[in-house]
Amino acid sequence: MFDKILIANRGEIALRVIRACREMGIASVAVHSTADTDAMHVRMADEAVCIGPPPGTDSYLSIPAIIAACEITGAQAIHPGYGFLSENSNFVQIIEDHELTFIGPTAEHIRVMGDKISAKDTMKALGVPCVPGSAGGVPTLEDAQRIGEEVGYPVIVKATAGGGGKGMKVAQTAADMESAFMTARAEGKSNFGNDEVYIEKYLTTPRHIEIQVFGDGKGRAVHLGERDCSLQRRHQKVFEEAPGPSISPEERAAIGKTCSDAVAKINYIGAGTIEFLYENGEFYFIEMNTRLQVEHPVTESIFGVDLVREQIRVAAGLDMSFIQEDLHINGHSIEVRINAEKLPNFTPCPGRITQYHAPGGLGVRMDSALYDGYSIPPYYDSLIGKLIVHGRDRPEALARLNRALGELIVDGIDTTVPLFHALLQEPDVLSGEYNIHWLEHWLETNLGG
Ligand code: ADP
Repeated sequence: MFDKILIANRGEIALRVIRACREMGIASVAVHSTADTDAMHVRMADEAVCIGPPPGTDSYLSIPAIIAACEITGAQAIHPGYGFLSENSNFVQIIEDHELTFIGPTAEHIRVMGDKISAKDTMKALGVPCVPGSAGGVPTLEDAQRIGEEVGYPVIVKATAGGGGKGMKVAQTAADMESAFMTARAEGKSNFGNDEVYIEKYLTTPRHIEIQVFGDGKGRAVHLGERDCSLQRRHQKVFEEAPGPSISPEERAAIGKTCSDAVAKINYIGAGTIEFLYENGEFYFIEMNTRLQVEHPVTESIFGVDLVREQIRVAAGLDMSFIQEDLHINGHSIEVRINAEKLPNFTPCPGRITQYHAPGGLGVRMDSALYDGYSIPPYYDSLIGKLIVHGRDRPEALARLNRALGELIVDGIDTTVPLFHALLQEPDVLSGEYNIHWLEHWLETNLGG
């Protein structure tokens, strides 16, 4: 087992990893930018190294600075969290070249899954059901128009390198194709340095269902059921739950096995998420994330496992501490993402926290790096906390979420908490009847945003 792990991240996910390290008796090293000198992850880690100025590219994304921090502190392994360098295959290769260990999948798996076209081809070959669409990249507008007719409108044009909801454009009819094609290409180019796009059938009322998988790199893998992340704004998740209200035990067992078999076959190592759209009882693969997800705590809550601990174990060459037969669902869990944003337009709202009080009590988990007097810097993602609740069933989890939101105090800035208070009044949210468009429609009607 490692003696010391460096966490190449910040905020709540850095704390999450530090906590797992501490329980395992492993020393932790935080890295930070000059804007984060007073951040909680710096205080909580055993050691901290300043790796550069505030912009991500000069610090949290600076591979030489992170490798140097490992060498200075003697850390043997790097946990990337999510975002930043977590899905950068070049980073993984450099870590391996320095005889350090990356806590995550191999560079090759990250590369294959990071490109949405090669991910889809790979999954298709492994027997995973995919959204109908173009066979690979679509080089010209004429090709796009032909494929639009073949697949049937509406279609979605997606940048193969896209992520975080960027680089996707819907063409409702043939008349929209030129602008969708050009915009998706331009966004792919400007955000990800790659203008290749592909086309999929646009599903009109799907839910977003993702399967948590975990592999040991030696041909064994398990699944930990699904998360329903259909409540999204601009293709970004805001509310996640497990198990999915629309998924039967039989469906879970079947799609779960398809996914765990697929990753076992490729000797996948560590945590991964296979994302699907789910409509009329059918699953359609959209992408695989080769890292721990923001919403992993809902899975941890219902299965009673620590996914970060498992990531560290398999990276150190140990076995997973469970097999499929050990994994049973207990109750229901919901996570809401609390962002430093001002409604109705979700404008980023950094600033000083004058008062912070985290909710507590039975079945409540607050993953956040906030504290009284902390100043949220303007340079990073606006996620400032995740409130996760667990109940014996969905109604109990909803009641607990309502109660916990009422206890939470974040003063000094605006947050997305009022959105969740409002959503918990909605019959569709209470009954679990929503699809990926529900929240956008609700926001238009209720916030005009
Ligand atoms: P990203 O990598 O940017 O997160 P994804 O491919 O995972 O992109 O898609 C994100 C979201 O976009 C999905 O959860 C869904 O809401 C929407 N989406 C993606 N593909 C389709 C599709 N074929 N039909 C309808 N909606 C889609």
